[in-house]
Amino acid sequence: MKRSFTEGLSRKEMLEIKACTQCRECLRYCPVQEVTGDISIAPFEKIRQYREFIEQTEGLKSLLLKREIPRKVLEDFTKAVFECTTCGACGEACPVGIDTQRLWPLLRREMVLRGLGPIGSQRELPLAVKETGNPYNQPASKRYKPWFPEGVEIARSAEIAYYAGCTGAYQARPMVRGDVIVMDAVGEPFTMLGEEEEVCCGFPLFITGQFELLESLVKRLVEAYRSRGVKTLVCSCPCCVNMMVKDWPEFYGQKLPFKIVHITQYLYSALKKGMVVFHNEEPLRLIYHDPCYLSRGVGVIEEPRRLLRAIPEVELLEFDRHGRLSRCCGAGGAARKVFHENAVAIARLSIDEAVKKGAQRLVLSCPACYEKVNEAMRGYKNQIPIVDIMELISGVIKRRR
Ligand code: SF4
Ligand code: SF4
Repeated sequence: MKRSFTEGLSRKEMLEIKACTQCRECLRYCPVQEVTGDISIAPFEKIRQYREFIEQTEGLKSLLLKREIPRKVLEDFTKAVFECTTCGACGEACPVGIDTQRLWPLLRREMVLRGLGPIGSQRELPLAVKETGNPYNQPASKRYKPWFPEGVEIARSAEIAYYAGCTGAYQARPMVRGDVIVMDAVGEPFTMLGEEEEVCCGFPLFITGQFELLESLVKRLVEAYRSRGVKTLVCSCPCCVNMMVKDWPEFYGQKLPFKIVHITQYLYSALKKGMVVFHNEEPLRLIYHDPCYLSRGVGVIEEPRRLLRAIPEVELLEFDRHGRLSRCCGAGGAARKVFHENAVAIARLSIDEAVKKGAQRLVLSCPACYEKVNEAMRGYKNQIPIVDIMELISGVIKRRR
């Protein structure tokens, strides 16, 4: 049976596609546009094209024209929708309020179901996750060992759990090492799943429109935490947190038996309760980059800033675009795997601005940003030390005795 272009969309998404006025306000905020200038992949153009698919196959046009959409048009659309970093800045700026961070993965899924997506190495993700539990095809035995700090005790079961996530564990190790040092400094008992048990949260599969494994992954993780008595799951990766908050309940089939907290929220709460203190004597001028899935995704904007300002001798600078309107680091939406040059060029826009503003360190809070911005720095004319927020705080935090 032929698929309908509206089959995978809710009424809300269909309404959004219909409601786009083609005003082009979104264009000013699209990082892919900034580095490519290719209008065929602009947010409003993708929406216009998809609306055209619906009208040509199901609307009056389908009766009048009675012709198939050429494969080349579908392939070009697929490339456009996968070249996007899914940063959601277009949706944030959209006067109509179109939630593009949610819409793009659904359009990607439609193209996957039509056999046109995903692109390149993104196709290997499901098999890697199925066989190794992570999208990097790395052995589970290397998930924690290379970075886990010595002397930190992990409870067999506890009300608090920490989820490291695949990108942190395999690609941004100073970040997850910092997380665990900070969790230990707070002093509340916390548990972690074993190296074989902690598998991918599902985000790379969701964002590339490959949904088949999601239900089993999510059920496996949620049940593992539930059986350990977990009431609060702490995680630092914005993509994981976004997936857990917004999509885990749907794939689990009901409300989660625990709440999800970003590590900056967890630590800021501990700081307010006086459980930890920060010690620092070195003057530091920092600039903080908001990860798309943390600021626009789940609205965590203030806690990272409050933590950084609580460090003595810190001066905190801001990017021109910050908070909900922050610019993507270039790594999002699994686009970095196949549109590498775009990702590096976008990351360098943030490096340039951080250097121009006179920051001494660029503070990140996302493992994908960490990996991509570090890569973009290599051999580049502008240089600035990069640090993850928990990596930084792990060097200044003390438990209050
Ligand atoms: S800002 Fe919103 S309404 Fe305007 S063109 Fe972009 S998506 Fe459409
Ligand atoms: S989500 Fe980001 S990269 Fe994708 S179209 Fe919108 S602004 Fe551009």
